[in-house]
Amino acid sequence: MQSSPRFHGPSDLHMHSVHSDGTESPAQVMAAAHRYGLRTAALTDHDTTSGWAEAAEAASSLGVTFLPGMELSAKHQWRSVHVLAYLIDPDDPALRAMTDRIRSSRMDRARTMADRISRDYDLEWADIVAQTSDGATVGRPHIADALIAKGHVRDRAEAFSSILSPNGDYYIALFAPDPVTAVELITGAGGVAIIAHPAGRAGLLPTPLMERMLDAGLAGFELGHRENLQDGISTLQRLCDERDLIVTGSSDYHGLGKPNLPGENTTSDGMVARIIDRGTGSAPVYP
Ligand code: AMP
Ligand code: FE
Ligand code: FE
Ligand code: ZN
Repeated sequence: MQSSPRFHGPSDLHMHSVHSDGTESPAQVMAAAHRYGLRTAALTDHDTTSGWAEAAEAASSLGVTFLPGMELSAKHQWRSVHVLAYLIDPDDPALRAMTDRIRSSRMDRARTMADRISRDYDLEWADIVAQTSDGATVGRPHIADALIAKGHVRDRAEAFSSILSPNGDYYIALFAPDPVTAVELITGAGGVAIIAHPAGRAGLLPTPLMERMLDAGLAGFELGHRENLQDGISTLQRLCDERDLIVTGSSDYHGLGKPNLPGENTTSDGMVARIIDRGTGSAPVYP
């Protein structure tokens, strides 16, 4: 496919700001994208689009094309599934109702986890609030940051493998829609649905579930991601070739919250063009 010169160059389609669990403002995330030589960058905060305006303005002034995105929480049985949503209508009522519900349940869940943790560790809800920007989508990373500030763990990775582990005493699952509903909501909002890090340690989703997601309008898979394992990537790449699906690669940058760096995986111009052709709920912002 011939790609437009307007977004020619490396594209990173998965980045987080303080509007969810990244450690930088949307403008700082776009500045990082620019510093690492990216020409197109997407902001994909968990369950919110509130960082778009700031990111779009910063990207424009830096000569970076901004692709609006979100990472929608979903779950299949016990496991969490993340669905990237590009070019959605941020005001779509059904999608908004779902993200509002997820975000408020995340808040209740974080409070309950904090209560449980505080039985064994010096930690108060205010410590978590202190680590969370106003209006941000709250998650375990903010609890991790509070545990770091209190000196209980060294970094987020240590918090996740100990106190915040799903196998531990303090963990509570969050409310999230099933993956098929997630895809329907994204597609219904004019967006392009791509499964984030689909080949991680938990293994691939069951084939019948993937088929139902494809029937619901799933557009493709994020095969370039440091958490994917080679076996799963190969299997999904064959599926993508057979069905002519979209394949992306991204960093999942979280600022200082993860070691992932902008541009460590990228998406080809041709695939970016397919996403832009397919998405109708919002538009990329060109510099
Ligand atoms: P939650 O959605 O609240 O259960 O938290 C999951 C989030 O924590 C994901 O979005 C990841 O970005 C982040 N996360 C998971 N594992 C780690 C880790 N080992 N280090 C840093 N962040 C992590
Ligand atoms: Fe995250
Ligand atoms: Fe994710
Ligand atoms: Zn992510």
